[in-house]
Amino acid sequence: MTSNHTPAAPPRSLLGLWAHPDDESYLSAGLMDRVLRAGGRVTVVTLTDGEAGFPADDPRPVEERRALRRSELRAAMAALGVHDVRFVGLPDGGLADLGEDEPLAAFRAALADVRPDVTVTFGPDGITGHDDHVVASRLATEAWRAEGCGELWYAAKTHGWLEEWRELHDRLGVWMTEEPTGVEDEEIAMLVDLTPRELRRKRAALAAHGSQSDLVAAAMGEPTYRRWIRQETFRLPALAGALS
Ligand SMILES: [Zn+2]
Repeated sequence: MTSNHTPAAPPRSLLGLWAHPDDESYLSAGLMDRVLRAGGRVTVVTLTDGEAGFPADDPRPVEERRALRRSELRAAMAALGVHDVRFVGLPDGGLADLGEDEPLAAFRAALADVRPDVTVTFGPDGITGHDDHVVASRLATEAWRAEGCGELWYAAKTHGWLEEWRELHDRLGVWMTEEPTGVEDEEIAMLVDLTPRELRRKRAALAAHGSQSDLVAAAMGEPTYRRWIRQETFRLPALAGALS
Protein backbone atom coordinates (compact mmCIF):
# COMPACT_ATOMS: atom_id res chain seq x y z
CA MET A 1 0.00 0.00 0.00
CA THR A 2 1.19 3.50 -0.79
CA SER A 3 0.38 6.84 0.76
CA ASN A 4 0.31 8.70 -2.55
CA HIS A 5 -3.10 10.11 -1.82
CA THR A 6 -2.33 11.21 1.71
CA PRO A 7 -2.61 14.96 2.00
CA ALA A 8 0.42 16.74 3.43
CA ALA A 9 -1.57 18.13 6.32
CA PRO A 10 -4.46 16.65 8.26
CA PRO A 11 -7.77 18.52 8.26
CA ARG A 12 -7.99 21.57 10.53
CA SER A 13 -11.45 20.61 11.69
CA LEU A 14 -12.74 17.05 11.91
CA LEU A 15 -16.25 15.85 12.74
CA GLY A 16 -16.91 12.18 13.47
CA LEU A 17 -20.49 10.95 13.06
CA TRP A 18 -20.82 7.53 14.68
CA ALA A 19 -23.36 5.09 16.11
CA HIS A 20 -21.80 3.78 19.35
CA PRO A 21 -19.06 4.70 21.79
CA ASP A 22 -15.84 2.99 20.53
CA ASP A 23 -16.67 3.28 16.79
CA GLU A 24 -14.76 6.56 16.74
CA SER A 25 -11.68 5.10 18.42
CA TYR A 26 -11.44 1.90 16.39
CA LEU A 27 -11.88 3.67 13.08
CA SER A 28 -10.34 7.11 13.58
CA ALA A 29 -8.30 7.55 16.78
CA GLY A 30 -5.09 7.97 14.78
CA LEU A 31 -6.70 10.50 12.47
CA MET A 32 -8.15 12.43 15.43
CA ASP A 33 -4.76 12.40 17.09
CA ARG A 34 -3.07 13.79 13.97
CA VAL A 35 -5.61 16.59 13.65
CA LEU A 36 -5.12 17.59 17.27
CA ARG A 37 -1.30 17.44 17.14
CA ALA A 38 -1.45 19.77 14.13
CA GLY A 39 -3.47 22.26 16.17
CA GLY A 40 -6.83 21.33 14.71
CA ARG A 41 -10.20 20.71 16.27
CA VAL A 42 -12.15 17.46 16.68
CA THR A 43 -15.81 16.87 17.47
CA VAL A 44 -17.35 13.44 18.00
CA VAL A 45 -21.07 12.64 17.83
CA THR A 46 -22.51 9.28 18.88
CA LEU A 47 -26.12 8.50 18.10
CA THR A 48 -26.50 5.89 20.83
CA ASP A 49 -24.93 5.23 24.21
CA GLY A 50 -24.07 1.63 23.33
CA GLU A 51 -26.12 0.06 26.08
CA ALA A 52 -26.65 -3.12 24.00
CA GLY A 53 -22.93 -3.87 23.82
CA PHE A 54 -22.93 -6.31 26.72
CA PRO A 55 -23.58 -10.04 27.12
CA ALA A 56 -27.27 -10.92 27.37
CA ASP A 57 -26.88 -11.96 31.01
CA ASP A 58 -25.23 -8.72 32.10
CA PRO A 59 -26.87 -7.94 35.44
CA ARG A 60 -26.61 -4.15 35.25
CA PRO A 61 -29.72 -2.09 34.55
CA VAL A 62 -29.82 -0.34 31.21
CA GLU A 63 -29.24 3.12 32.68
CA GLU A 64 -26.08 1.91 34.36
CA ARG A 65 -24.80 0.43 31.12
CA ARG A 66 -25.53 3.67 29.28
CA ALA A 67 -23.73 5.70 31.93
CA LEU A 68 -20.74 3.38 31.81
CA ARG A 69 -20.34 3.65 28.07
CA ARG A 70 -20.76 7.41 28.13
CA SER A 71 -18.02 7.69 30.71
CA GLU A 72 -15.83 5.31 28.70
CA LEU A 73 -16.24 7.50 25.61
CA ARG A 74 -15.41 10.65 27.56
CA ALA A 75 -12.32 8.99 29.02
CA ALA A 76 -11.23 7.65 25.65
CA MET A 77 -11.53 11.07 24.08
CA ALA A 78 -9.77 12.70 27.03
CA ALA A 79 -6.87 10.31 26.41
CA LEU A 80 -6.55 11.81 22.93
CA GLY A 81 -7.38 15.38 23.94
CA VAL A 82 -10.86 15.50 22.38
CA HIS A 83 -13.23 17.43 24.61
CA ASP A 84 -16.16 18.08 22.29
CA VAL A 85 -18.18 14.86 22.60
CA ARG A 86 -21.90 14.94 21.83
CA PHE A 87 -24.41 12.27 22.88
CA VAL A 88 -27.70 11.99 21.01
CA GLY A 89 -29.02 9.24 23.30
CA LEU A 90 -30.99 7.16 20.79
CA PRO A 91 -31.61 3.44 21.46
CA ASP A 92 -28.67 1.14 20.72
CA GLY A 93 -29.64 -1.41 18.11
CA GLY A 94 -32.80 0.49 17.28
CA LEU A 95 -31.73 3.08 14.73
CA ALA A 96 -33.18 1.18 11.79
CA ASP A 97 -36.62 1.15 13.44
CA LEU A 98 -36.55 4.67 14.77
CA GLY A 99 -37.26 6.77 11.74
CA GLU A 100 -34.78 9.20 10.28
CA ASP A 101 -35.88 12.53 11.68
CA GLU A 102 -34.10 12.55 15.00
CA PRO A 103 -30.69 11.13 14.00
CA LEU A 104 -30.64 13.15 10.80
CA ALA A 105 -31.42 16.34 12.69
CA ALA A 106 -28.66 15.59 15.20
CA PHE A 107 -26.08 15.04 12.46
CA ARG A 108 -27.19 18.15 10.58
CA ALA A 109 -27.02 20.25 13.74
CA ALA A 110 -23.46 19.11 14.38
CA LEU A 111 -22.42 19.81 10.80
CA ALA A 112 -24.04 23.25 10.86
CA ASP A 113 -22.38 24.07 14.15
CA VAL A 114 -18.85 22.75 13.47
CA ARG A 115 -18.62 23.40 9.72
CA PRO A 116 -15.80 20.81 9.52
CA ASP A 117 -13.22 20.51 6.76
CA VAL A 118 -13.73 16.77 6.94
CA THR A 119 -16.56 14.60 8.23
CA VAL A 120 -15.85 10.92 8.90
CA THR A 121 -18.33 8.09 9.25
CA PHE A 122 -18.79 4.42 8.28
CA GLY A 123 -18.90 3.36 4.67
CA PRO A 124 -22.30 2.14 3.45
CA ASP A 125 -21.43 -1.43 4.49
CA GLY A 126 -21.23 -0.25 8.10
CA ILE A 127 -17.78 -1.92 8.35
CA THR A 128 -19.03 -4.62 10.73
CA GLY A 129 -22.45 -4.98 9.13
CA HIS A 130 -24.19 -3.63 12.25
CA ASP A 131 -27.56 -2.13 11.27
CA ASP A 132 -26.89 0.97 13.37
CA HIS A 133 -23.66 1.56 11.45
CA VAL A 134 -25.40 1.24 8.10
CA VAL A 135 -28.07 3.72 9.18
CA ALA A 136 -25.46 6.11 10.58
CA SER A 137 -23.54 6.03 7.30
CA ARG A 138 -26.64 6.74 5.23
CA LEU A 139 -27.84 9.56 7.46
CA ALA A 140 -24.37 11.09 7.80
CA THR A 141 -24.15 11.14 4.01
CA GLU A 142 -27.57 12.72 3.73
CA ALA A 143 -26.77 15.31 6.40
CA TRP A 144 -23.42 16.14 4.79
CA ARG A 145 -25.04 16.61 1.38
CA ALA A 146 -27.75 18.83 2.90
CA GLU A 147 -25.33 21.00 4.87
CA GLY A 148 -22.76 21.21 2.09
CA CYS A 149 -19.53 21.65 4.00
CA GLY A 150 -16.09 20.17 3.49
CA GLU A 151 -15.33 16.60 2.44
CA LEU A 152 -16.94 13.35 3.56
CA TRP A 153 -14.62 10.42 4.25
CA TYR A 154 -15.86 6.87 4.72
CA ALA A 155 -13.89 4.57 6.98
CA ALA A 156 -12.96 1.63 4.75
CA LYS A 157 -11.01 -1.59 4.82
CA THR A 158 -8.78 -2.53 1.91
CA HIS A 159 -8.92 -5.93 0.25
CA GLY A 160 -5.32 -6.46 1.35
CA TRP A 161 -6.14 -5.77 4.99
CA LEU A 162 -9.20 -8.02 4.91
CA GLU A 163 -7.13 -10.78 3.35
CA GLU A 164 -4.39 -10.38 5.92
CA TRP A 165 -6.81 -10.70 8.83
CA ARG A 166 -9.47 -13.05 7.41
CA GLU A 167 -8.45 -16.11 9.38
CA LEU A 168 -8.49 -14.16 12.63
CA HIS A 169 -11.84 -12.52 11.80
CA ASP A 170 -13.40 -15.88 10.99
CA ARG A 171 -12.02 -17.45 14.15
CA LEU A 172 -13.28 -14.65 16.42
CA GLY A 173 -16.51 -13.89 14.55
CA VAL A 174 -15.72 -10.20 14.19
CA TRP A 175 -18.32 -9.31 11.57
CA MET A 176 -22.02 -9.23 12.42
CA THR A 177 -23.08 -10.25 8.90
CA GLU A 178 -20.49 -10.43 6.17
CA GLU A 179 -17.03 -8.98 6.06
CA PRO A 180 -16.81 -5.38 4.80
CA THR A 181 -17.07 -4.81 1.06
CA GLY A 182 -13.42 -3.84 0.85
CA VAL A 183 -11.79 -1.29 -1.42
CA GLU A 184 -8.75 -1.25 -3.67
CA ASP A 185 -5.66 0.58 -2.47
CA GLU A 186 -6.15 3.15 -5.25
CA GLU A 187 -9.53 4.11 -3.78
CA ILE A 188 -8.03 5.15 -0.47
CA ALA A 189 -8.10 8.92 -0.04
CA MET A 190 -6.42 8.96 3.37
CA LEU A 191 -4.18 6.37 4.95
CA VAL A 192 -3.23 6.78 8.58
CA ASP A 193 -0.50 4.27 9.37
CA LEU A 194 0.03 4.98 13.03
CA THR A 195 3.45 5.79 14.40
CA PRO A 196 4.41 4.01 17.63
CA ARG A 197 3.45 7.10 19.63
CA GLU A 198 0.11 7.40 17.84
CA LEU A 199 -0.52 3.72 18.37
CA ARG A 200 0.10 4.10 22.10
CA ARG A 201 -2.47 6.88 22.27
CA LYS A 202 -4.99 4.90 20.24
CA ARG A 203 -4.45 1.90 22.51
CA ALA A 204 -5.05 4.15 25.54
CA ALA A 205 -8.30 5.39 24.00
CA LEU A 206 -9.42 1.82 23.35
CA ALA A 207 -8.40 0.77 26.85
CA ALA A 208 -10.79 3.42 28.14
CA HIS A 209 -13.50 1.51 26.25
CA GLY A 210 -12.69 -1.50 28.41
CA SER A 211 -16.21 -2.95 28.38
CA GLN A 212 -15.77 -3.40 24.62
CA SER A 213 -12.04 -3.79 24.02
CA ASP A 214 -10.77 -5.93 26.89
CA LEU A 215 -12.17 -9.23 25.64
CA VAL A 216 -11.17 -8.60 22.02
CA ALA A 217 -7.62 -7.65 22.97
CA ALA A 218 -7.35 -10.68 25.25
CA ALA A 219 -8.68 -13.01 22.55
CA MET A 220 -6.18 -11.71 19.99
CA GLY A 221 -3.27 -11.21 22.33
CA GLU A 222 -1.83 -7.75 22.84
CA PRO A 223 0.79 -7.70 20.04
CA THR A 224 -1.75 -8.93 17.48
CA TYR A 225 -4.39 -6.50 18.71
CA ARG A 226 -1.96 -3.60 18.27
CA ARG A 227 -1.15 -4.64 14.72
CA TRP A 228 -4.86 -5.07 14.01
CA ILE A 229 -5.69 -1.49 15.08
CA ARG A 230 -2.62 0.15 13.55
CA GLN A 231 -3.98 1.23 10.21
CA GLU A 232 -6.91 3.51 9.43
CA THR A 233 -8.08 4.04 5.88
CA PHE A 234 -10.69 6.33 4.41
CA ARG A 235 -12.22 6.77 1.00
CA LEU A 236 -14.32 9.43 -0.67
CA PRO A 237 -17.95 8.50 -1.34
CA ALA A 238 -18.01 9.50 -4.99
CA LEU A 239 -15.24 7.03 -5.90
CA ALA A 240 -17.48 4.12 -5.08
CA GLY A 241 -20.55 5.67 -6.64
CA ALA A 242 -22.28 6.05 -3.28
CA LEU A 243 -23.74 9.41 -4.26
CA SER A 244 -24.85 8.41 -7.73
ZN1 LIG B 1 -20.60 0.39 16.67
